[in-house]
Amino acid sequence: MPAPIWRELFGQGDAIAQLELAVKHRDEGVHHAWLMTGPPGSGRSNMAVAFAAALLCAEGGCATCRSCTLAMAGNHPDIDVLTTEKVGISIEEIRNLVTSAQLGGSMGRFRIMIIEDADRMAERSSNVLLKALEEPPAGTVWILCAPSEADMLPTIRSRVRRIALKTPAVEEVAELLVERDGIERSLAIKVAAEAQSHIGMARRLATSADARGRRRDTLMAALEIDSVSSAIFTSERWLDLARRDADALTAERDAEERAELLRVMGVEDAAKLPPYARADVKALEDSQKRRATRSLRDGIDRILVDLLSLYRDVLMLQLDAQVPMVNEDLRTQLLGIANRSTPQQTLFKLAQIELARTRISANVKDQMVMDALAVNLRTKP
Ligand SMILES: [Zn+2]
Repeated sequence: MPAPIWRELFGQGDAIAQLELAVKHRDEGVHHAWLMTGPPGSGRSNMAVAFAAALLCAEGGCATCRSCTLAMAGNHPDIDVLTTEKVGISIEEIRNLVTSAQLGGSMGRFRIMIIEDADRMAERSSNVLLKALEEPPAGTVWILCAPSEADMLPTIRSRVRRIALKTPAVEEVAELLVERDGIERSLAIKVAAEAQSHIGMARRLATSADARGRRRDTLMAALEIDSVSSAIFTSERWLDLARRDADALTAERDAEERAELLRVMGVEDAAKLPPYARADVKALEDSQKRRATRSLRDGIDRILVDLLSLYRDVLMLQLDAQVPMVNEDLRTQLLGIANRSTPQQTLFKLAQIELARTRISANVKDQMVMDALAVNLRTKP
């Protein structure tokens, strides 16, 4: 039985077994750098935090002691988490982290530095980190998170121990939603497919009719582009949907974080904030504000991922591949598109969506990218 700290990490038995082994033998020393790889939604960052908590807990991850509670609330003094609010990680952010790593642990034997989205480091920042990985102070453990090993420089790759997270099957995610969140089975299966096994996204679609509505509107808007002028209209519509989706998600997450902070600080009545809690709440609010830009970008990327699923479904229909569709409830509309176009045209559209994702992540102006994409997705040439 894995320690309680791992219980929220669903379907990652192999990764957990490897990490628990490291925790078990921590007295003989822990490897100083780890890389958690897996697609967004596979729980990379949660896995990193659970590993850090397990290393610092006397029981190896009891999930209830003070050390575990602080770690899970993101308040443990010996765990530094670098979360990117910007598109790229700056060299200053890495320098600060490297400096902080020198301090060693205050409560326990380890000091743990987590870099979420380590793939957002430019080469210059990577080189600063590399120096730190070459001469690690005793007790320092670095945990990097990235979609894949290929996202890291080879020099960094060679120094990290890699833990690969799996993407759970659609059925497994649906089962989790039924068991854990009490979602009705047919809805759970539908949203698990639509979220392409992204657990957080699946739960959100399952619990928010608004989120489901926005997803459907996004896809329907794509299917209705039949001219350049309607393409421009659709592009504006997508950006508006992305903004509303990002706002809703930010509001939910901000509220959860605030509630968690107040709980950890022992504030019972959120309306009457005691003076000792004010600075921490203010700091949280500031960091939430800084995160807002990044979340619009994530909202646009979600739209692009949904569009990829739409045209992949079309391609599967055109090739008559007997595989489950992501967007089963749009089958009639997708059959229409499949019959009116060729697989070559669909492949072109898929390539255009991938190109748009690359351009968004490279900081090209949102509107320009989405306008160009919409024009290329129109049904009539
Ligand atoms: Zn504990």
